[in-house]
Amino acid sequence: MAHKADLKVSVVIPIYDEEECIDILYDRLTAALGELEADYEIIFVNDGSHDASLDMLTALHQTDARVVVVNLSRNFGHQPAISAGLAEANGDCVVIMDGDLQDPPEVIPDLVAKWRQGNMVVLAYRRSRREGFLRQRLYWLFYTLLGTVSDYPIPLDAGVFGLIDRRVADQLRNLSEHNRFLPGLRAWIGFSQAVVPYDREERVAGRPKQSLVRLTRYALDAVFSFSYKPLRLSLAAGLVISGVCFLYAVVLVIKRLVGIDVVPGFTTPTVAILFLGGVQLISIGILGEYIGRVYDEVKARPLYIVSEILRKGEES
Ligand code: UDP
Ligand code: MG
Repeated sequence: MAHKADLKVSVVIPIYDEEECIDILYDRLTAALGELEADYEIIFVNDGSHDASLDMLTALHQTDARVVVVNLSRNFGHQPAISAGLAEANGDCVVIMDGDLQDPPEVIPDLVAKWRQGNMVVLAYRRSRREGFLRQRLYWLFYTLLGTVSDYPIPLDAGVFGLIDRRVADQLRNLSEHNRFLPGLRAWIGFSQAVVPYDREERVAGRPKQSLVRLTRYALDAVFSFSYKPLRLSLAAGLVISGVCFLYAVVLVIKRLVGIDVVPGFTTPTVAILFLGGVQLISIGILGEYIGRVYDEVKARPLYIVSEILRKGEES
C-alpha cells in the first residue's frame, strides 16, 4: 500500500443553503477520510447560498488547511457547481458527493479501495432510497425512461456520488457541454468502471434544494443530451399517423364513389385536425428541446463564475 502522503484524494461537494448540514457533514467526512492511507482535500463549492453556509465554510477553511472553498458569484445549480469543484481538485482521484449527507461519507473508503484495485471510475450504486413517495416514483420513472431511450448504456440508479480518477476528471473538465448530466457524461467517457452499493439516506436536515421543476429539467437534459430517439419518435409517430390517415382517406373516397354513407360528417375532420394538431405540437416541442440546447452551446458562456477561492497558500 502506498505511503500516506503519496496519494491525494479530493472530495468535491456542492453547497447551496446547507447551514444545518455542514457541521455534521464535516465531522463525518473527516472521520471517514481519516481512515484512508492518503492525504486529502475537501473542496466545498458555495453555489450562491443565502444562509450562513459561506461563513461556516470559511470558518472551516481557517481551522483546517485541507478545506478549500470555491465561492461562485451566484446560484448556478448542482451540475455547474460540481464542475467548478472539479476544476479546483488536484488529487489523484476525485470523489463527488452531495452536501446533505444523502451520500454517506462512510462509503468513501470503499470507493477508494476499488480505485486502488485499478478502476478508473467507481460508482456508488443506490441499493435503496429513503425519500418521499412521489420523488421515489419519479426517480423510478426517470431511470426506466432513460434506460429505454438512451443511445448507449447509462448505469441506472447511479447519481453523481462516486469516485473518478484524475485522468477521468481531466477529461470531464474538457467537455464544455452546458446541459450537463454527470452520470451520462461519466458513462460516455468510459474507462474501467466498478460499483459499490450503498443505502441512500435521508437528508439530515433542511429541505431538498433541487425542486421538482429543477429535477425535471435535469431529467430532460439527461434524455435530450444522450439520445436522438425522441426525434425519431416524432418522425415515427408522424409516419404512422399519416399512414393511417391515408388509408382512411382511401376508404372515404371509395365509400363516396360507391355511394354509401354520403352524409357529410363533422366528427371525422374535427377529430383528425385536433389529433394531428396535437401530434405536430408535440413534435415541434421535441425539436424545441434540441434547438434550445444547441442555442445554449452556441452562446458558449462559461458554466459558472467564480467569485473567490479560499485555498491555503494561494488566497485569491
Ligand atoms: N445544490 C447546489 N446548487 C443548487 C441545488 C443544490 O449546489 O442549485 C447542492 C445541494 O446543496 C446539495 C446537492 O446539491 O449538496 C444536492 O441537492 P439536493 O439534496 O437538494 O438534491 P436531491 O438530493 O434532491 O437530488
Ligand atoms: Mg439530496
